[in-house]
Amino acid sequence: MLHAVSTVAVLGGGQLGLMLGEAARRLGVDVRYLDPAPDACAGAIGTLVVGALDDEAAVFETAFGADVVTYEWEGVPAWSARVLVDTEHIVLPPPDALAVAQDRLLEKRVAGELAIPTADYRPIDDAEDAADALSAIGVPAVLKTRRGGYDGKGQRVIHDPRALDDAVAELGGRGLLLERLVPFRRELSILAARGRDGAVVTWPLVENHHERGILRTSLAPVCEPEHQTRADEVAAAILTRFDYVGVLAIELFDADGELLLNELAPRVHNSGHWTIEGSRTSQFENHLRAILGLPLGSTDVVGAAGMLNCIGALPDPFLVETVPGAVLHEYGKRPRPGRKVGHVTVLADSPAVRDDRVEELRALLPSDG
Ligand code: AMP
Repeated sequence: MLHAVSTVAVLGGGQLGLMLGEAARRLGVDVRYLDPAPDACAGAIGTLVVGALDDEAAVFETAFGADVVTYEWEGVPAWSARVLVDTEHIVLPPPDALAVAQDRLLEKRVAGELAIPTADYRPIDDAEDAADALSAIGVPAVLKTRRGGYDGKGQRVIHDPRALDDAVAELGGRGLLLERLVPFRRELSILAARGRDGAVVTWPLVENHHERGILRTSLAPVCEPEHQTRADEVAAAILTRFDYVGVLAIELFDADGELLLNELAPRVHNSGHWTIEGSRTSQFENHLRAILGLPLGSTDVVGAAGMLNCIGALPDPFLVETVPGAVLHEYGKRPRPGRKVGHVTVLADSPAVRDDRVEELRALLPSDG
């Protein structure tokens, strides 16, 4: 427990903010959020400033008197974070990491600098680039916008080379990347935290399953030790590169044992929700510990964990309770198709039992249409 009450300002007030707030409450830390929605769900646990994330006055009002400013969404304009740094506020993770994570091309360049493999790619800013990219990458490939894509939005899979020009036009003609479609075995993520003193901890690798571009299920732990070692090295290299403080999530493709970096998220992450019940210290608590300069907590797991997102609607809580070790988190968000409104984490003594319980729970989740 802290001796004096600290205040953390959070840019963004969605479910990640809500869960940061829940961890903050346990640490005795006050939280103030900025979000454009007056009903932003994190407002249930902290003070909410209603305003756009690029509204300078609202950004300053949120940050006023806070010990540290952080963010829970990587769509926060990097200049909002930078303007705070320029006015003597402490903003963590560093805005440079935010700016890189907002641009898939910069992300891949940083990976290249650090000799971390990614899918082969080419930037596209005009018709000539598109032709060059096609001959370098071939098909199948994925065309992506450099900026602004999430949950599979702003992407087109290209199987037929003749489809590329139309897809390029549809996605705006410039500021694009063509990536080789990686025949991955599975999608993984590594969550890591770095403290102000440079100490680094990681959680066990997570296996992630998406449907229609949206994360549905995360399982941890799942992996062989050599994968963990490699993922830990990747995380440490990126954290050091940015002199990073806070939690960082790195999405990876496991392509025949080689881990390819897909995306960075400079914040707490959906694939780390299982850590609330499944690890001695959750991603949310370690993020707060890191940015407040407190020692990081242990990331040891307390069982095999599975996390299922509730998308579009919540399951019947009484049915969830019938599955041993299952905990339902409701975000207090109005249900809407495709919207993450809660998640369920289930723990078990072994991965096999965990997997059975995840299947049982999957059957209880309403379809999001
Ligand atoms: P992203 O927004 O980059 O995380 O992409 C969303 C999802 O699309 C990923 O989780 C993958 O399932 C898939 N995807 C993206 N890029 C590639 C790629 N280069 N090869 C294969 N699948 C991909």
